[in-house]
Amino acid sequence: MIHGGAGTLDNVKDQKTAVRYLESLRRVLEHGREVMQLGGSALQAVEACASLLEDDPLFNAGYGSVLNEDGKVEMDAAIMDGRDVSAGAVAAIDAIANPIQLARLVLSESEHVMLIGEGALRFADHCGMPRALETYFYTPERIEQLKQAKRKHKLMLDHDDAEEDSEDQKYGTIGAIARDPQGNLAAATSTGGIVNKRIGRVGDSPLVGAGVYADNETCAASATGYGEDFMRTVISKTISDFIYMKEMNANQATKAGIDYLIRKVKGRGGLIVIDKHGNCASGFTTKKMIHGWIEQGGVTNVRF
Ligand code: ASP
Repeated sequence: MIHGGAGTLDNVKDQKTAVRYLESLRRVLEHGREVMQLGGSALQAVEACASLLEDDPLFNAGYGSVLNEDGKVEMDAAIMDGRDVSAGAVAAIDAIANPIQLARLVLSESEHVMLIGEGALRFADHCGMPRALETYFYTPERIEQLKQAKRKHKLMLDHDDAEEDSEDQKYGTIGAIARDPQGNLAAATSTGGIVNKRIGRVGDSPLVGAGVYADNETCAASATGYGEDFMRTVISKTISDFIYMKEMNANQATKAGIDYLIRKVKGRGGLIVIDKHGNCASGFTTKKMIHGWIEQGGVTNVRF
């Protein structure tokens, strides 16, 4: 399963852009299928799929990352292996084209779970990962979007209408989760965060249990939306706990998780979930969530 963000996507109104989203999702899903058909693990599949999504400027991660209040990118990413609940994460980084690949190196090559900012970049150098040019990330769309967000921020303060504000926001984070034929689960989430965010703000995406989770005994999950809501509800781990303690399947646990998210914090966003049996589920509180799935090796489905 993959997602490309929750929320209203005003720019999908024209047919051509809509087709681009659909094509991208299909291409990434088929790539994930191929990785596992060739014997790749769930972990390899989610890293490969997340990398492709990071390379696509349609999505808010890697190349297409949104800009913070200073007009800079600060990206977060995490990857988790359900075999032994090992995890790697990076937060508040720039200069790396594929943060998910750096997160994977943190998982496999360091004794830590999360590295941030300058330390994460130093670790990337140590691993021989090249740095991207600063200009790599500044697409004209993101510069314009930041300008709009700054303008709307003033309006938002005047209106003080949370409902209206949330409709304006776009959460374009990407995520990939998989179960391989051996029954291993893995999850990856990567993001540029939220447009016009404060410098140093870290969201849910790189946090184990919030924006990402994988445990072979329960499920793999990846979230997208207003990160602060997911951090406070530890939503991905909560869904995993529903499966572990209440013996729910992916659908039941996702629904219970979304109910909890709404009841506790009126959370904005959604999740994709695959349970240990390979059942796929999704849930969201926003109008839409861009996502797609291949269940039990069957047909490719995409929604947005
Ligand atoms: N969850 C991300 C964050 O809060 C944003 C998103 O999903 O687009 O950083």
